[in-house]
Amino acid sequence: MKIETIAIHAGNHTDASTKAVVQPIVMATTFERDEDGGFSSGYSYSRAANPNRAALEQVLAKLENGAEAASFSSGNAAGMSVFQSLDPGTHIIAPDDMYHGLRNQLKALFAGILEFDFIDVNDSDVLQAHIKPNTGIIWIETPSNPLLKITDIKKVAGIANKHNLKVVCDNTFATPVCQSPLALGADMVMHSATKYFGGHSDLMGGALITAEKSDWWEKIRNVQTMGGAIPSPMDCYYLVRSIKTLPYRVRGHVHNAQLLAQFLESHPRVDRVLYPGLSSHPQHEIARAQMHAFGAMLSFTLKGGEEEAKKVVNAVKIFTRATSLGGVESLIEHRSSVEGPDTKTPLNLLRVSVGLEHIDDLIADLKQAMA
Ligand SMILES: *Cc1c(COP(=O)(O)O)cnc(C)c1O
Repeated sequence: MKIETIAIHAGNHTDASTKAVVQPIVMATTFERDEDGGFSSGYSYSRAANPNRAALEQVLAKLENGAEAASFSSGNAAGMSVFQSLDPGTHIIAPDDMYHGLRNQLKALFAGILEFDFIDVNDSDVLQAHIKPNTGIIWIETPSNPLLKITDIKKVAGIANKHNLKVVCDNTFATPVCQSPLALGADMVMHSATKYFGGHSDLMGGALITAEKSDWWEKIRNVQTMGGAIPSPMDCYYLVRSIKTLPYRVRGHVHNAQLLAQFLESHPRVDRVLYPGLSSHPQHEIARAQMHAFGAMLSFTLKGGEEEAKKVVNAVKIFTRATSLGGVESLIEHRSSVEGPDTKTPLNLLRVSVGLEHIDDLIADLKQAMA
């Protein structure tokens, strides 16, 4: 089946008892036992499993063409579950521009438990030089945040295979509509479902999708159900509902992003536009080869530095000044302010989550903000 069909049908079934076309929300935390003490429905207690979570995990697994998915209460909870599933002392290689929330999580919560190096994973020599006997996983994120750097997933997976390492790919920016990391050799995909899956800036969620079932995956399942950072039945319902329109939403986002990037590139006050869909992007060819579409996140830097960037971000009328991404509304932010004092993000950089408003209105808004 194609992705549009999967998105609509894989997470939904007509209710057997009421014939409701949309799967009902089951709020119950506990389920009645059979007379022999069993649970013939397959459900016993909602931290372990819930019908709406099962539906969500089914559609997530199919969207990424994985064996199974596990859903979480946030993207960071999904990432943390990977880290918690590793043996103490395991070494993680992660990108130097890893999503700052997960980079900070590793530094604040896993120092002394795991080892980690934040490096340029796109340089094969640097990557290989950092592989140690205790290295367990290579974490990648592509396109990256907020510099929209592209990691060649196949290349990293090739290196990882040689050394018997696992590759986890944060696919939040791309979504399965734009990129299929498992098909390129990654072992696991991570998502912040808060972003495009939710799509309306009104829920938090996270997901892991595994290429195959394994002891490692069982460990992650245990972290999920014993740790308990699970999404509520309501959030699972909303995610399944939103995912039905994911392919069409993402296509609209991508269409707008490409046009906005081209407009920005031609604007005299713009210094650089970072968008993998532009032929000026240093890794445009890799992006073209490994992505189905270029995504809808872009960053641009302004001539005149930080002052100038802040002036523009304060002059927008349709864009909202806010962090996060993936919602129907366009967002813009002065990224280094969001990332805090240890940021390496250029001070004149603005990050944009391109929404689904009409592109003419978005261009007009940035035009007036930069006038
Ligand atoms: C937002 C985000 C996360 C974290 O997800 P939350 O849902 O905010 O916990 C991880 N990775 C990327 C790329 C993100 O954009």
